[in-house]
Amino acid sequence: MIAALEIVSVFRQTNYMDSRAETILEIVREVAEMRRTAEEARLDGATIGFVPTMGALHEGHLSLMRRAARECALTVASVFVNPLQFAPGEDFDAYPRLLDHDVVQARDADVAMVFAPTAGEMYASRPLTKVHVSQLDQPMEGALRPGHFDGVATVVAKLFNIVGACKAYFGEKDFQQLAIVKRMVFDLNFPVEVVACPIVRENDGLAMSSRNQYLTSAERQAAPILYQALTEAIAMVGRGQRDASRIVAEVSERVKSEPLAKLDYVQVVDATTMQALNVIQDNSRLLVAARFGKARLIDNVAL
Ligand code: AMP
Repeated sequence: MIAALEIVSVFRQTNYMDSRAETILEIVREVAEMRRTAEEARLDGATIGFVPTMGALHEGHLSLMRRAARECALTVASVFVNPLQFAPGEDFDAYPRLLDHDVVQARDADVAMVFAPTAGEMYASRPLTKVHVSQLDQPMEGALRPGHFDGVATVVAKLFNIVGACKAYFGEKDFQQLAIVKRMVFDLNFPVEVVACPIVRENDGLAMSSRNQYLTSAERQAAPILYQALTEAIAMVGRGQRDASRIVAEVSERVKSEPLAKLDYVQVVDATTMQALNVIQDNSRLLVAARFGKARLIDNVAL
């Protein structure tokens, strides 16, 4: 792994403005260097585009990076599997770590800099401070993964403090996370513009995810049931259905009809507040989570 990293690191970037033309990429391991480089770029008048990830990059991540590179002078992607957002017994140890692959993918997506700190660099000692976004973290993922969103909000706050003022690109794939990050930025006045990006899917509709790697081939074949059920919900609304409970019932039934799927939740919520809705209105979002063997998959659509 180190050998490939070094090869890419040889192309140490000296001028971020040339990054697209020369497809050079710098790997930054230390907080102080990341902060200094971003600060210098801003002093030069560059807009920084920032894409936080946990790595094992796929087209979903790369779509965020390409967009950031189109819209900003310097694109920074972070690759960090954040221990704080995993509960004991979750897949922290199993989570795919593919930094060489990620660096090459990120470079091809016009990223100029990959910030890949170690856990020790990010958390020199166990943090006594955590960021907690209340209410929005209560339903769905927050209910099933207690403490998860505190871990997410805390690491995103740290990353925003390290990278500084930027446009930060997040996928709608993790819709509750996106709502929580937006609210944290609003409440705490981070100098960050959060840009929401659409979900990238496989040809059969399955939302791309690093966790899709956990699926057996039978589970992979079964997994598109999630998007099929969500698509049927959109069709119901198109036919005039406004009763959220009818939509939830239909989606639940569809997912449960797949023997390999274990449904965790289906919920219709307000896209900003995450409050459950009884009636479909503007800004309604339908979210679903289900387990397929070792993989826990989430997906969502606007209604
Ligand atoms: P992760 O590495 O899973 O933490 O994801 C990093 C970022 O990529 C988050 O903002 C995700 O929402 C986004 N992302 C992951 N999968 C997709 C996808 N299929 N389409 C769009 N964005 C995605």
